[in-house]
Amino acid sequence: MSSTNENFPEIRAAVAKLCSQFPGEYWRALDDTATYPTEFVRALTEAGFLSVLIPEEYGGAGLPIAAGCAVLEEIQRSGCNGSACHAQMYTMGTLLKHGNEDQKRRYLPGIAAGELRLQAFGVTEPTSGTDTTRIRTRAVRDGDDYVINGQKVFISRTQHSDLMVLLVRTTPYEEVKKPSDGMSVFLVDMREAVGNGLTIKPIKTMINHSTTELFFDNLRVPAANRIGEEGKGFKYILDGMNAERILIASECIGDARFFIERASDYARERIVFGRPIGQNQGIQFPIARAYAETEAAALMVLNAARLFDEGKPCGSEANMCKMVASEAAWHAADTCLQTHGGFGYTQEYDIERKFRETRLYQTAPISTNLILSHIAIHELDLPKSF
Ligand SMILES: Cc1cc2nc3c(=O)[nH]c(=O)nc-3n(C[C@H](O)[C@H](O)[C@H](O)COP(=O)(O)OP(=O)(O)OC[C@H]3O[C@@H](n4cnc5c(N)ncnc54)[C@H](O)[C@@H]3O)c2cc1C
Repeated sequence: MSSTNENFPEIRAAVAKLCSQFPGEYWRALDDTATYPTEFVRALTEAGFLSVLIPEEYGGAGLPIAAGCAVLEEIQRSGCNGSACHAQMYTMGTLLKHGNEDQKRRYLPGIAAGELRLQAFGVTEPTSGTDTTRIRTRAVRDGDDYVINGQKVFISRTQHSDLMVLLVRTTPYEEVKKPSDGMSVFLVDMREAVGNGLTIKPIKTMINHSTTELFFDNLRVPAANRIGEEGKGFKYILDGMNAERILIASECIGDARFFIERASDYARERIVFGRPIGQNQGIQFPIARAYAETEAAALMVLNAARLFDEGKPCGSEANMCKMVASEAAWHAADTCLQTHGGFGYTQEYDIERKFRETRLYQTAPISTNLILSHIAIHELDLPKSF
């Protein structure tokens, strides 16, 4: 099966080889016990795949975001799940772009070497929903520290991370001119925070995603850990969100290719009524459609990654590629499940697990409606509905 966007062939081949050591049995066992894929993440870290975007001067490979996309796409295409560690690639960008030299020297080499895990990104809150400017978790300056109080929800991998990029309000919503003003970003050292003002509570979900609720009760964070200027945090987070959307779109492309390959293989082999089911156009056409949608989405990911790497504005492109890629993956997932008949529902085929996992990307990190709203407002000049 030829595919668009087969760039970085050496990286792809190496990632696929590593992933072959983590077959379906490995993921199924973790799923059954809701366990984090520690060995898998360690293997990726040791092979240097999670630090491809960190500049060479800080110990990384200094490659463009398109290389990170190739890594994550191949992980998903192999049937593995990069959501256990993808955050390292995009949260690192907030530190790299907006952190001061001292912060970069203090953390980036450790992250590149795999000694420090930066896997957690804390934005969502129970009462604000998608309207990020309404977050209420508050940091108040007290001498050389800030004191943080509030609550976050659905913050993933916090129990498997040494550091967390955290968005809070430093000025209440009611006191700012623009809703996006008055928010600040902190790098929280989880090793010091847990038990000293930060409590983590795991949330059970339909997928094995290690997501949690966070309770902040007078957590002290050194002012030296504030990234960039106080009150300008929303802008820094938006930059990181473009990277997040492009990288997650690549994961969706990988998922879609996993489903299309599995569906085509099964459709060629499964004999019903004396012929391969794939000979029936009712089976062929949905797979062919999923393939076409995936190829189109892959081109949009490539375009968004190019703009990002050139330092050009890419908010709409990042959003749109994530939307079309997540939809292509979902259509491919549905088609793959249908192609497998009853066997698709059995755990041993890994289709039902991947089906559940890929559904997430229509809701997180941003839901499809919010992307459509972004396109309507920013590309079509239509009035904002909220
Ligand atoms: C497994 C998992 C892991 C996650 N990991 C993280 C993480 O690590 N860090 C983090 O910060 N967050 C994380 N999230 C949160 C995720 O980003 C949010 O769930 C997502 O952005 C949607 O926000 P919400 O759940 O508050 O939905 P809501 O904002 O309550 O929205 C509910 C529904 O209403 C729709 N809606 C809302 N407003 C409008 C409107 N004006 N017009 C049309 N439709 C609208 C939305 O599209 C959505 O479908 C995670 C979520 C999950 C499920």
